[in-house]
Amino acid sequence: MTLAASTQFPSLESALKHFFGYDQFRLEQRAIIEGFLRRRDSLVVMPTGGGKSLCYQLPSLLKLGVMVVVSPLIALMQDQVDALRNNGIAATFLNSSLNLAELRSREQSLLKGETRLLYIAPERLLSEGFWPFLTQLQLRIGISGFAIDEAHCVSEWGHDFRPEYRQLHRLRSTFPNVPMMALTATATARVRQDICQQLQLTDPDTFVASFNRQNLYYEVLPKDRNAYAHLLGQIKDASGATIVYCISRKRVEELAGRLQLDGIAALPYHAGLSDETRTTNQNRFIRDDVQVIVATIAFGMGINKPDVRLVAHYDLPRTLESYYQESGRAGRDGEPARCIVYFSYGDVSLINFIIDQKQQEQEQNIARQQLRQVLDYAESTVCRRQIQLSYFGETFPGQCDRCDNCCHPKPLEDWTIEAQKFLSCVARCRERFGMVHIIDVLRGSQKKRIRELRHDQLSTYGIGKERSTEAWKLLGRSLLHQGLVDETTDGFPVLKLNAASWQVLRKQLSVQVAVPDELNKPGTEGAMGSAVETGLLAKLRTLRKRLADHQGVPPYIVFTESTLRQMAQNMPRSLSRFGRISGVGSRKLEQYGQAFVHEINAFCEENDIEGNTSSFGTQRSSSDSSSPTINTTRAMTLKLYQEGHSVDEIADLRNLRRTTIVGHIAALIEAGAAINLDDLVPFEKQGPIREALEATDGGWLSGAYNRLGEAYSYDDIRLVRGLLRRERSQHTETLQEKGQKTEG
Ligand code: ADP
Ligand code: ZN
Repeated sequence: MTLAASTQFPSLESALKHFFGYDQFRLEQRAIIEGFLRRRDSLVVMPTGGGKSLCYQLPSLLKLGVMVVVSPLIALMQDQVDALRNNGIAATFLNSSLNLAELRSREQSLLKGETRLLYIAPERLLSEGFWPFLTQLQLRIGISGFAIDEAHCVSEWGHDFRPEYRQLHRLRSTFPNVPMMALTATATARVRQDICQQLQLTDPDTFVASFNRQNLYYEVLPKDRNAYAHLLGQIKDASGATIVYCISRKRVEELAGRLQLDGIAALPYHAGLSDETRTTNQNRFIRDDVQVIVATIAFGMGINKPDVRLVAHYDLPRTLESYYQESGRAGRDGEPARCIVYFSYGDVSLINFIIDQKQQEQEQNIARQQLRQVLDYAESTVCRRQIQLSYFGETFPGQCDRCDNCCHPKPLEDWTIEAQKFLSCVARCRERFGMVHIIDVLRGSQKKRIRELRHDQLSTYGIGKERSTEAWKLLGRSLLHQGLVDETTDGFPVLKLNAASWQVLRKQLSVQVAVPDELNKPGTEGAMGSAVETGLLAKLRTLRKRLADHQGVPPYIVFTESTLRQMAQNMPRSLSRFGRISGVGSRKLEQYGQAFVHEINAFCEENDIEGNTSSFGTQRSSSDSSSPTINTTRAMTLKLYQEGHSVDEIADLRNLRRTTIVGHIAALIEAGAAINLDDLVPFEKQGPIREALEATDGGWLSGAYNRLGEAYSYDDIRLVRGLLRRERSQHTETLQEKGQKTEG
């Protein structure tokens, strides 16, 4: 087989732009594609949203023959095929949802060479009847490659073992010369090894992308009285698709009902609903008819919605791996998104109870260990990313700047004396009781049981009255965590002293405890935009929804969220400018360009905006709130800044988020206020940020952020963008002045 169409494109990048509208490959995509084109086998491990599909989709368009994609999820197939067709790519699927006539006609069109990509479920692929067809396809048209999606299903060690995947090695023996690509988002070494072996990959190139999802903000909050109100606020703030996970059907129903009462468009999803209701609810969520889906973990597999802005676990996740997968459904489009766990110790007891119901001791042990890892994550005061990535065997230095522990480190307090009281109480109770009892004794509880045990006679009885039960629990857990006391794991947890406990008791070790402050609420960086942008974005979303409904596809198939955002920021007023937006390929330009450009033009005229001829969006109308005039709240920030307060201090004083203050200052710089950028962003960082902003065409924040990498924060980028915009508008003003002079 030759590289058929490749001669048509001077570079892989130009093919990428033509078919998919993207300007650049992500990290390893290019290398993966090149390998495939050279007919090499490969194993591709990338987190959800990493961009795996493109790795076989693009090659399928550059080679002769049909790319056969094995995928276990019927719903996903439909979605992928819809997305491809929307880009003008001839793709099809064969599965049990089709009737015989449809199947035959699709097979015919495959044999005529009219189709580039074929999605198929493993059962069908491996069935008696299909094999002769496949051989015929190879003879007549050629098979350009096999892509095995969700390849971890081949491994018993993966989380979703499917026995039929085991038979896929027949592909290798029957078609030894067709290159095979296995793709998965599961990263453990064991599963990886299994995949290569089971599928009999030949000397495969292995690509393992980092599992760091840079655009996700992680946080853990106490599930206390305020939790619901907090969640509600988050959902409103996110103003985008939200998944809330609960542990049981009952809790799903309760929470969905409560959100509905509070005016949120929310639907439930769990195994107790009829198939029909589930499908309807899922589709209404995917198509943006409702904002929120409240679900058990039954929801999510096979959901490809890229623009989920918030994933909240209202109950504790079961394992760290499942948390990574579930939270990973946020922000697949690379735009900022949030992942929140609401954590209570009540949930821990519930999960422990569920574990106790398990039959096998081995199963119980594994489940306990998994629970312990989740607790480590939830209770920890170190970078959340660091914990997650270390679980996947990746070393990450911490300080991610995108998790609660990095953004709002909890202050450490010296609780050595309390620890000594606690541990000596454990000793006095002869190391035969659990934490609740120890705390009861410390706090001088009147419980009958205490008297019966004569623990009210102990010297430690009542010596801890000055602290609340919660505070003692915090200490107890922290001691466990730091290994300063042990807990038995054989059913009823009893506290036991260890060598380190004795060091504390002998005053050889001091004890520091991280004390959480109240619920904090950091900003959704990067999600901001000027009022004008937001106004246009809303219009574009409506248009997108209309076009999507018309075709019966989800809105993101028409354009992704990031593509819409760029339109709102850039305001392209001609087709040629519109075509430059990332995500607008040749087919989409043709199909949707007119409608969108028309909408943008109408918006600009209505709002008296010049629209975009410049790449930094200096479009401003005098009435909109984001015009570079200084409004009251910004004036207040400016006053405090001039008085010498730092950004953090101003945020504190004004009780606003840091990002809000940075937003003010960026706007102030843009408006020409006397603020020296060098005081805010190190000079050596400014150059690269400028370049990144220029390169992302439009001063697009997350575009620049992704380019720059982790050493640069959104705040820095926004501040520099303020100055750039300032310079732009000065430049335009000068030009206008010049124009007026020549006219005059
Ligand atoms: P995965 O299969 O790894 O979960 P997808 O293939 O669904 O991820 O890709 C996630 C999103 O990223 C999709 O919206 C896709 O169009 C987009 N994407 C993939 N590659 C690129 C790229 N090179 N540039 C911009 N967006 C991309
Ligand atoms: Zn962090």
